[in-house]
Amino acid sequence: MQIFRDITALQAWSTHAFRNNTNIGLVPTMGYLHAGHLSLVQAARQRAALVVLSIFVNPTQFGPLEDLATYPRNEERDLHLCREAGVDVVFLPSANAMYHEDASIFVDENALSRGLCGAQRAGHFRGVCTVLAKLFNIAHPQVAIFGQKDYQQAAITKRLVRDLNFPLEIVVAPIVREADGLALSSRNSYLTPEERQRALGLYRALQKASALYQAGTRQTRTLQEQMTAILHQHDLTPEYVTVVDGATLKPLTAALPGSVALLAARCGKTRLIDNLIF
Ligand code: AMP
Repeated sequence: MQIFRDITALQAWSTHAFRNNTNIGLVPTMGYLHAGHLSLVQAARQRAALVVLSIFVNPTQFGPLEDLATYPRNEERDLHLCREAGVDVVFLPSANAMYHEDASIFVDENALSRGLCGAQRAGHFRGVCTVLAKLFNIAHPQVAIFGQKDYQQAAITKRLVRDLNFPLEIVVAPIVREADGLALSSRNSYLTPEERQRALGLYRALQKASALYQAGTRQTRTLQEQMTAILHQHDLTPEYVTVVDGATLKPLTAALPGSVALLAARCGKTRLIDNLIF
């Protein structure tokens, strides 16, 4: 496994692979890897000869009051997991290498990023789109793998690739969960044992929506009320509870196959998200 910290060195490596007709699969992450990230590595492996995993806690996607400074990091453990998972290249740039002090070009998405997490986290998706555009230009992947866990991010990334003509395919892999249903997340490490139990409310709310949908309920107002009630039962503070169109992310009055229930809630100081595709 090769480790690159230098942008130009990785660009030279990926250009060489491209000239040799060797496909690259990219898995962008912020590190503190878990089985969800590793499932993306497997999905990349199935689609490309070489797998590049990037670990970069991207400062431009954190708001001033968010957890950039405390975001969990463990480089040694991450590298060990990458080796075990058969990653070919790990890209570990520094923030200074990625952003010139006077960087003045950023990528803004102006429709899908308006609501949901974008409404709560000003500038978040501008940071995400900018860093992904940079990673695509550095690693030259033919395919990049994202998790359904961050549904809005995956939808915006597809739009980024479409609207800026990046020559690559975006693949969205399913959510990996703990045995009890909690979606894996690096931020779960913030939870106290008591909060860890309450955090299950997100999954339970989605399960309730799924059961209601399967029993014939289509009215999103009913689905939202039921999900919100379950979040409250678990002493979680909902940020949004909604059912949207899977492509436009616009709220719906009636759920259809392919509609998505999306949740964000605070569990103590930790912000958690989860979702379900009907
Ligand atoms: P992060 O390191 O949190 O920025 O996540 C990096 C990638 O891993 C994103 O595409 C996430 O959607 C994906 N991811 C995070 N958690 C999960 C999970 N539980 N299952 C599948 N993919 C995930």
